[in-house]
Amino acid sequence: MALDRPNDLSAFWMPFTANRQFKKAPRLLVSSKDMHYRSADGRDILDGTAGLWCCNAGHCRSKITEAVQKQVGELDYAPAFQMGHPLAFELASSLRDMAPDGFDHVFFTNSGSESVETALKIALAYHQARGEAQRTRLVGREKGYHGVNFGGISVGGITNNKRIFPSLPNVSHLPATHLKENAFSRGQPEHGADLADELERQAQIYGPETIAACIVEPVAGSAGVILPPKGYLERLREICDRHGILLIFDEVITGFGRVGAPFAADRFGVSPDLITCAKGLTSGVIPMGAVLATGKIHDAFMEGPEHVIEFFHGYTYSGSPVACAAGLATLEIYREEGLFDRARDMEDYWADAIHSLKDAPHVIDTRNLGLIGAIELEPLPGEPTKRAFGAFLKAYERGIMIRTTGDIIAMSPPLIIEKEHIDQLVGTLRDVLNETE
Ligand code: PLP
Repeated sequence: MALDRPNDLSAFWMPFTANRQFKKAPRLLVSSKDMHYRSADGRDILDGTAGLWCCNAGHCRSKITEAVQKQVGELDYAPAFQMGHPLAFELASSLRDMAPDGFDHVFFTNSGSESVETALKIALAYHQARGEAQRTRLVGREKGYHGVNFGGISVGGITNNKRIFPSLPNVSHLPATHLKENAFSRGQPEHGADLADELERQAQIYGPETIAACIVEPVAGSAGVILPPKGYLERLREICDRHGILLIFDEVITGFGRVGAPFAADRFGVSPDLITCAKGLTSGVIPMGAVLATGKIHDAFMEGPEHVIEFFHGYTYSGSPVACAAGLATLEIYREEGLFDRARDMEDYWADAIHSLKDAPHVIDTRNLGLIGAIELEPLPGEPTKRAFGAFLKAYERGIMIRTTGDIIAMSPPLIIEKEHIDQLVGTLRDVLNETE
């Protein structure tokens, strides 16, 4: 039986958590519905972050719950290699229909991190298959977050996540697009498209024929919401085209309506060669990720004798039946309720609310796009992260869930959010900032 308040917290080594601090004053969630969590101490907590950017359809939606319950009693698991089951094909087709034009093939994974590893391997293997095995360089970006596996931390650029671990060879980074002159931008900022030219410079330094792929988050989430300057992604696309470099969009957070369109590639009108996704694919209910590939990429693998495996890669749970059932039900909710358009329709109200905090204490920047918002605080002198973390704790006490990275408060609510929820989030946050040291 599940315990609301377990009395031994010592065994669970929590991820990305200050374990000792948490266990002194645990914040435990015991149930959820639509826009709210319920805490173990009996309070409703308004979810300002869709869990971890994943519960885009809201919580405990009956369509998803019932689909999962039914599937687990019907076909619990089917081998993923050299065998199949109908739901994986159905979900792949639904995803293809929802994806930007040309993304006709889907490789299933179980998380964003696995999607990133898979996409990097597809990129390297694609060049091999076409006789360009010398293309081994991967270009990421400073402050980029691509999960926590070795490929992802190598191309990623968040120092704490990578400093003590070895990196893949032949990796370099573009500069981040977080510029002071863009402070308080509404939507995409004006300055910084030229930062993409670093990719051209690296092509000249290393030789364009040695670069396999460039991977970026169209909107960087984990680094604290960094938006692409106007023209920046277009310029990356041009440089990649010029030199035969594959462009990978890591859409683990931007996929499934977060930016007011199915994918950021749609919102920005820039088409990459590979898209990684996860999180919103099942609205966070069952772990699942995917890599979307264009026909050009996929078809390059479909050569040679037909009995030979084309790509030596995959996971035991790639496209597992229960995850597929969750995914199909989730995509149906997105379509039926028009949630991606809803996110776009709410964007102005959301943007007004986020930017209304411009004059709140400690605020040095506010930014927004789709249903993403960030409030950047001036760090406490000599104690980076402490001020924002204090605000997070106070916000939780006052019944709202926000997320902080560094001294940036990030918000990304479920796409079913109503205006009164937005008012509550921002009103509470103002009170919190008024009280924050
Ligand atoms: N890529 C991006 C852009 C992400 O934001 C994340 C997680 O936040 C990941 C990859 C890793 O996803 P996961 O935690 O599911 O492995």
